[in-house]
Amino acid sequence: MIAKIRSQEAAKTPGEADLIARIDQLLTELAPEITERPISVTWRPMRERWGSCTSVDRSIRISDRLKLAPDYALDYVLFHEAIHLQYFDHGSEFTDVLARFEDSELASAYLDGYEAAERAMLPPLELEKL
Ligand SMILES: [Zn+2]
Repeated sequence: MIAKIRSQEAAKTPGEADLIARIDQLLTELAPEITERPISVTWRPMRERWGSCTSVDRSIRISDRLKLAPDYALDYVLFHEAIHLQYFDHGSEFTDVLARFEDSELASAYLDGYEAAERAMLPPLELEKL
C-alpha cells in the first residue's frame, strides 16, 4: 500500500526534464523576448525560499515543498525564477513580465497560505526566532 502511494506521488512529481520543459513553455508563451533557457532545474529541500536562480550558470533550484502543489503555484515559481535569467532584481522590468502570469494572485495566495500554515505548526520557541 505504501509502495503504491509512493509510486503515485512519484508519478505526480515532475522530473527535472519536465521542469525545464515547463519553463520553456512559459517563457515562449508569456515572455518571448527572454531567450535564455536554464541549463539545470533541480528540486532542493529549501524551507526559507520557494526557488532561486543563478543567472551566471543558468541554474534554477525549486523548493521541494512545491512537489505536490497545484500546477499554477509551481508554474508561478518556475516563471518567477526563469525571468531572473534575464532580470536579476525585482525591478519594474521584472514585475512587468511577471504580471503576465494569469493566476499570479491565486498562486501568491496559495504560497502565502502555505507559509502561514507552516508558521502555525511551528513550536512557539521556533516562532520567536522568525
Ligand atoms: Zn525573485
